[in-house]
Amino acid sequence: MRISIIIPAYNEEGNIHKIHTEIESVFKDLDYSYEIIFVNDGSVDDTEKKILELTGLDSNVKLISFSKNFGHMSALIAGYNHCQSDAAITMDCDLQHPPELIKDLVLKWEEGFEIVNTLRIDDDQKDIFKKYTSSYFYKLFAGVSGVPIEKGSADYRLIDKKVIREINLLKEHEIFLRGMFYWLGFNRTSIAYTPNERYSGKTKYNFRKMLLFAINGITSFSTVPLKMITILGFFVSCLSFLYLGYTLYSYFFTTNVISGWTSLAISTLFLGGVQLIALGVLGEYVGRIFIESKNRPRYVVKTKKGF
Ligand code: UDP
Ligand code: MG
Repeated sequence: MRISIIIPAYNEEGNIHKIHTEIESVFKDLDYSYEIIFVNDGSVDDTEKKILELTGLDSNVKLISFSKNFGHMSALIAGYNHCQSDAAITMDCDLQHPPELIKDLVLKWEEGFEIVNTLRIDDDQKDIFKKYTSSYFYKLFAGVSGVPIEKGSADYRLIDKKVIREINLLKEHEIFLRGMFYWLGFNRTSIAYTPNERYSGKTKYNFRKMLLFAINGITSFSTVPLKMITILGFFVSCLSFLYLGYTLYSYFFTTNVISGWTSLAISTLFLGGVQLIALGVLGEYVGRIFIESKNRPRYVVKTKKGF
């Protein structure tokens, strides 16, 4: 039985050797053979060089190198696409996902779970902003999509080869893996862990990437935002009917009809705003259809080593 460890790496030169030794020592205590698939997501530092050094020293290390940065999700998918083992574990390269936890993931797998998720305990998360945005995102996501992703869900998980096969069959381009593992079903469980500090380098998820990730996640799992627009439109129409009554009343029964500028300005601005939001949300979904219909590959591989 073999386990693949899939590690997306984007400018992680300082972490490659460290994570390799940690995983090596974890597997000394485990009765499985293993391989480490590093997915170099278009790094511009020495990440690729460091991984290539390792492939020369250790035949368990494999490399997939993208032609440019395609993003974390695509890197995870590439790992699954190239994985031939009985189970795959995905983890971050920065050692925030403690490698010792691999043993617990494997134990759960041996108990018969096909998906073993991990939940980050956020109690002493230094980055207050990340902590709150992430926790509110999962509430919102669960609310609109009906997919209850627990807060603190991370892309540190073990999946069985049955699940890998299903993932590899999915044709969606903009894939939101955390939701997908719920949608797929199977026997699931999760274990909690306390994240480490990033070993070296800095986070690749800035506010912009986090926002895109959130919008992607919601629009790929739910059409509720579209329904909300319809409801909003309905309410605004009702309100404007009431307002119509008021204007007619003023016209026929009062004398001060000229003084309508304020209300006119407000209603124009308000309606304009609502329409822009509506267009934006519609555009988001149309955009997704556009992207999916082009059916482009999720990533382009520049080089592979060890396969
Ligand atoms: N990552 C990637 N491509 C990207 C951004 C990130 O492969 O475009 C990888 C990164 O190298 C790391 C993991 O995804 O292994 C998680 O990223 P990071 O640690 O920066 O995110 P955070 O833990 O701060 O949310
Ligand atoms: Mg990290």
